This record gives sequence, structure tokens and C-alpha cells, in this order.
Amino acid sequence: MALETLILTKNQQTVLDILESSSEPLKAYTILFDIQKKGIKSPLQVYRALDKLIEIGKVHKIESRNSYIACKHEGCTAKTSTSFLICENCDKVKELTGNNLISYFSKQSDKNNFQYRKHSLEIYGLCESCKFKN
Ligand SMILES: [Zn+2]
Ligand SMILES: [Zn+2]
Repeated sequence: MALETLILTKNQQTVLDILESSSEPLKAYTILFDIQKKGIKSPLQVYRALDKLIEIGKVHKIESRNSYIACKHEGCTAKTSTSFLICENCDKVKELTGNNLISYFSKQSDKNNFQYRKHSLEIYGLCESCKFKN
């Protein structure tokens, strides 16, 4: 990876800090609300920072919730293709890692004469603490 992609601007770092300190995925307007105290006023700046963070794999988007989560995996290769385990009871989100999913889906796509580009997978169920409560 080229070195310049690892150097974040002040805005990007601020957005990343907020996501990293949150235990749950955040919506863009929640990030904006938090960030206004730190001098970033425009939603566009937040979206730009998020786009860049997603591009370099530091942040993932959870499409169905329209929210963002900081990647906790060193050297995550997910970037645009992501897989999440989402608890239906408490909304806790855990990222599934493992690049085998990309090769699995691209093989399945090939079989269907379809060119694979990315996937966004969301698996619903109960997390570790919720599965014993019910
Ligand atoms: Zn990741
Ligand atoms: Zn749960």
C-alpha cells in the first residue's frame, strides 16, 4: 500500500476517532453532531472524510442501517466488500473477516455469467450475550 494513503487529514482523523471510540455503528448525522464541537461544520466534510476512510478500509458502511463502523482488524482487506453479524436484539455488530467470501461470491457469480464486483452481507441473529437471555 502506498504510504500517502495512510496519512489522514485532520477531518478524517477526527471522524475516525469518533467511530473508533463508539461501541456501535453511527449514522452520519450522529457523527456530524459530535464533530461540530471540534470545528467541522458541514455535512459534506463529514461525507468526504467517510468516503476516504471507507476507500482505505479504516471504516465500513453498513448499508441497511445507513451507518458506519470503524474496522477493528489490522490490515482489513474488506474495503468495499463487507460481511457483518448483526444482533436482532441489541443491535451489536461484529465484522466477519476472511477473504474466502470474496472468492466464494466471485465463483458463484462466474457460474452465473455475472461479473462480481463487491458484496455487502448482513447476517442477522443473536449475539453472545443475547442468545442466552432468550
Ligand atoms: Zn474490516
Ligand atoms: Zn445482542
